[in-house]
This record gives sequence, C-alpha cells and structure tokens, in this order.
Amino acid sequence: MTLRGVPVLHYDGLGTTLPADVDARLASHWIAPIALARQLVAIREHGHRVIRLYEAWTRGAAEPPARSPVVLTFDDGRAADYEVAFPLLLAAGARAEFFINTARIGRRGYLSWSRIEEMHRAGMSFQSHSHDHVVLPGLSARLLRNEIRTSKRLIEDFLGRSVDFLAAPHSLVDRRVIDVAQEAGYQAVCASRGWPARPGNAVVSRVTVLRETTDAQFGAILARQPQAYMPAVARALVARLRRRVALRLRPPDLDGELSPRGA
Ligand SMILES: [Zn+2]
Repeated sequence: MTLRGVPVLHYDGLGTTLPADVDARLASHWIAPIALARQLVAIREHGHRVIRLYEAWTRGAAEPPARSPVVLTFDDGRAADYEVAFPLLLAAGARAEFFINTARIGRRGYLSWSRIEEMHRAGMSFQSHSHDHVVLPGLSARLLRNEIRTSKRLIEDFLGRSVDFLAAPHSLVDRRVIDVAQEAGYQAVCASRGWPARPGNAVVSRVTVLRETTDAQFGAILARQPQAYMPAVARALVARLRRRVALRLRPPDLDGELSPRGA
C-alpha cells in the first residue's frame, strides 16, 4: 500500500546525548548526528527530492514516484539545529524548515538571531513552534492569540519572509488552535500523525523520525508505505499520548517550566 501525499519528516532532537533539561522519556526522539547524515544520503540514493513545506502544501498533481518529494522539519530551535543539522544539510544540498519558539531565541542551548539569519541566508526556512512552547489547547483566547501571533510576527519582522506554518508544541491541536492560526494568517498547523501530508489540509501530518527508526523503516517512510513503519510510530504515539494526558493535568505554564520537556 502506497499512500498519496508527501512525507514530512519531523526531527525532535539531535545529538548523541540527551540535554540535561530534556525528560529521559524523550530519549527515543533524540537522533544521533551520524543517523541524520545516513538518512540524508538515503534520501538522495532512493531518488527523492527535498522540497519546501510550502511547495508540498500547495502542490497539485503527484510527482513521478522516482522523484517523489520529501520535506525535512526540525523542532524547538536548539543549538544543535545550527551545530549539527545545518552543516549536514548544506553538505547534502538540502533545505529544511525549522520550527522555533521565539521566547527561547538567544537562550543558552538555543539558536540566536544571528545564527537564524545565517541559516536563513543559506536557504533554510523558519516557521513558528509558538512563542513559549506551551500546550495550546485550553489556553485563554488572549493567551492563545498571543502565542500564535507573537511568534509569527517576530520571525517575519526579523527575516522579512512570511511564516506560513505553525507546529503545535507536543502536537496538541484542536479546532480552536487551527481557527486562531488561520485567522493569524498561517496556512496550516503541523502535528505528528504518522501519515504523508496531503496538500491543502488544515493539519499537516508529519512523521516523527525516532532513534529506533531502522534504515528499512526510514525507506518505507520515504516510500509512503505505512504498513512497514506504522507499528513503531504507533508505539511512539501511545507514549506521546501518555505524556499528553500528563500535560493536560497540569495548568499551562508560561514561564516555560513545561517547555524544556517538550517535544
Ligand atoms: Zn517542541
């Protein structure tokens, strides 16, 4: 079974060790640099073409399978985006989307504005992961608007480019989040659902690449054959669901106490 759509790969964390501020339960979301390097080679060797998220979201007729496209996305705006992903992407001649939290920019362990500018000049794209990395559903209307609008405005003002996509922290999305995002001018909201993304949908489905993702499973993600990778993704989704329940039981915290644990 080959699904229609474009695989939008979602990388949560990069590095051989988990940063001290990250919950140990998220270790499976941390990808070693060598694994990312191998996956970039696999994308090329399997004949796939890396395209921009905007192109994937707006594209019409399907490409011939031999040149089927793929989108690369990285969340959270950590320093490793510059130190690990950026040089590997440049070497591979690939562009990626970086979903960043504007409240974290310049903080220790995160991207600075000058690095963002350097990456942007080299062709990388920056999108919103909300301002503070908080759980969006359940926020008051005022706070929700602030989270969604502030991040978009800050990135746009700095880079002079439109920010078209919001990746919801922890992939927690509801109708209200989508409505407020669209009112603010976003095209769509990204969430990890495990399926290839369909053009024009209000929710862009992403596939999370895990530490345990094998080369064969990675090939199946690129080939849009979920039966070969879904069992592993489903296990990760169940783990994510348990974390969601825990997050929902705690009040949204704008001081960022939740955010270092965030995926
Ligand atoms: Zn995140």
